[in-house]
Amino acid sequence: MPNSLTTLSQSSLQDYVDCPRRFQLRYVDRLSYPAIESEPTLENEKHQQEGEYFHRLVQQHLIGIPAEQISKVANTPNLQRWWENFLAQPDFRNLGDFGSLLPEATLSAPLGKFRLLAKYDLIAIAKDKVTIYDWKTYRKRPRNEFLSARMQTRVYRALLVHAGAHLNHNAPFEPEQIEMIYWFSDFPNEPARFAYTSAQYKRDWDLLLKLSDEIKSASLYPLTDDRTKCLFCPYRSYCERGVRAGDADQAEAEVEAEELFDVNFEQIGEIAF
Ligand code: SF4
Repeated sequence: MPNSLTTLSQSSLQDYVDCPRRFQLRYVDRLSYPAIESEPTLENEKHQQEGEYFHRLVQQHLIGIPAEQISKVANTPNLQRWWENFLAQPDFRNLGDFGSLLPEATLSAPLGKFRLLAKYDLIAIAKDKVTIYDWKTYRKRPRNEFLSARMQTRVYRALLVHAGAHLNHNAPFEPEQIEMIYWFSDFPNEPARFAYTSAQYKRDWDLLLKLSDEIKSASLYPLTDDRTKCLFCPYRSYCERGVRAGDADQAEAEVEAEELFDVNFEQIGEIAF
């Protein structure tokens, strides 16, 4: 493992567990994606950019920009619909009831030889409870079982316990105080909610340590055996993996594809109001 790799995130860990070869190409060799050529990919990119813009709109609203002003810049059909869905949610109208709202909070902690980093869409802290919100602009609503096993669900909750004491009067949050909620802008009434327990926290942190050890000592990065992971993988041309997934796998393969094209929010420019 080259010394230049010092940070792990839920995305890099997800890549590693999905396909070590993809992890190698993306984070060790730092290869940019091959040129985007096909129409569906262009559509994916546009959708992804709108998704990132939506995140920024919500963030701006949470730091005090009035909804009416935001509505003016939610100016594509997708953005308009997502924003209206957001405003219509009773849960989000009452966010002010939380003692403290931390939009786009970043937490990090040492993990083996690495630093584990996570950027949260929103951490909402109430007296006895802390809620992690994550906005998803997916075109399909993944199953809860799929989401529950994602590295994001594991990393975000575990890291909040591990590195969130400064948000809780210098006492670590109890896992049982934590809930993570994925809210889907196109499925506003079907959020996915994940509570947390001490046993899950121990399991998650042990897994994260094991993965960081594996990554530290890795010298071989095998191609995944699960060829459905290749269906929308941008690196297919490096692996000669032109495959078709079965219909049953299609929906979640597409969700995975949307994540692969994620643009980091720090890459999005400021919005002029
Ligand atoms: S195409 Fe398949 S084997 Fe190659 S990096 Fe992508 S997921 Fe891995």
